[in-house]
Amino acid sequence: MRKIQMVDLSGQYKGIKQQIDASIANIMETSAFINGPEVHAFQKELETYLGVKHVIPCANGTDALQIAMMGLGLRPGDEVITADFTFAATVEVIALLQLTPVLVDVDPDTFNINVKAVERAITPRTRAIVPVHLFGQCADMDTLLDLAAKHDLYVIEDNAQAIGANYTFDDGKKQKAGTMGHVAATSFFPSKNLGAYGDGGAIFTNDDDLAHMIRGIVNHGMYERYHHDVVGVNSRLDSIQAAVLRAKLPKLDEYGNRRREAARKYSRAFANQAHIVVPKTVNGCEGICASCDCHVFHQYTLKITNGKRDALVKYLNEKGIPCGVYYPIPLHQQKAYTDDRYAESDFPVTNRLVREVISLPMHTELDDEQIAHITDSIIGFVNG
Ligand SMILES: *Cc1c(COP(=O)(O)O)cnc(C)c1O
Repeated sequence: MRKIQMVDLSGQYKGIKQQIDASIANIMETSAFINGPEVHAFQKELETYLGVKHVIPCANGTDALQIAMMGLGLRPGDEVITADFTFAATVEVIALLQLTPVLVDVDPDTFNINVKAVERAITPRTRAIVPVHLFGQCADMDTLLDLAAKHDLYVIEDNAQAIGANYTFDDGKKQKAGTMGHVAATSFFPSKNLGAYGDGGAIFTNDDDLAHMIRGIVNHGMYERYHHDVVGVNSRLDSIQAAVLRAKLPKLDEYGNRRREAARKYSRAFANQAHIVVPKTVNGCEGICASCDCHVFHQYTLKITNGKRDALVKYLNEKGIPCGVYYPIPLHQQKAYTDDRYAESDFPVTNRLVREVISLPMHTELDDEQIAHITDSIIGFVNG
């Protein structure tokens, strides 16, 4: 059996090596390292793929979130509601901009922000909601967009984990993750579904004025050289990363299919296990139906409900099967983000998930032998 990896980037590279090597060699020859033609071409290609008017590349996903919030003109003291169960970047930028983070609980089945908890958290100072499309599928955008419209709030999608996923609205209309809110942020960190070979990120929006504002912000607040109209930052995607992303973008749907195929095999193997809960998709198909396009499985995350999660992690590590716990500590309990405003009873779901979740190896190169070895090992241990 081939060695199992959590993410297999070198295996994936083999399929796109020629194109990537040629474009990188060309960048070396032309020295167009920053703002070169590759960056512009990637931006256009991603706009077409997503069906969004503006893609603004930047240096990483955390910057993308920060710049999106700066672009919207959020001010110190404005309240921004986001999920307690996510990577810290989301709440970090809210705090950095001296906005007030308001953490709320998540849904136990999808791991995404609980819209009822969002509604309860809205106050006259609330200005924005940041749904994180966690592990590869969208939050309940029908309800969130309605709620935001009713209360005149911005919706900033944290799409670092769900690029390529489709969301089907109640009326049957489909849209890509990251194109539904006022603005969205994504990350091209190497292990993300569309990953560069270094750092990268982008902001998406359909709003022309906001896009113009953001194009200035990423470039020191300049719209005309050496005229600094707003306070900006320096945040760019470099040409080499853009070249890598251009090679991968045409394969993103195929990559998504391969991840779903692996998820389907996992979920079939774990069906009928009393203490193992497989991930649920919003349309209830558990990623098993062949037409599923709502989940791109950035992570394939189980819940181990008989208290053996930590022991399982240790066992898998000893057996050489990689796994991850995303995320082991709720944000409201992190030293940097604790606050008297929160009570433990506000977060029953997150507090349970941090003890139950385990993410399995998930990438485009998993084979049947590896999947069977992983699922047999887990089933044997959990029931042992
Ligand atoms: C990865 C990630 C980010 C940050 O992206 P970077 O490119 O690492 O800065 C933000 N939010 C979520 C949910 C992520 O998974």
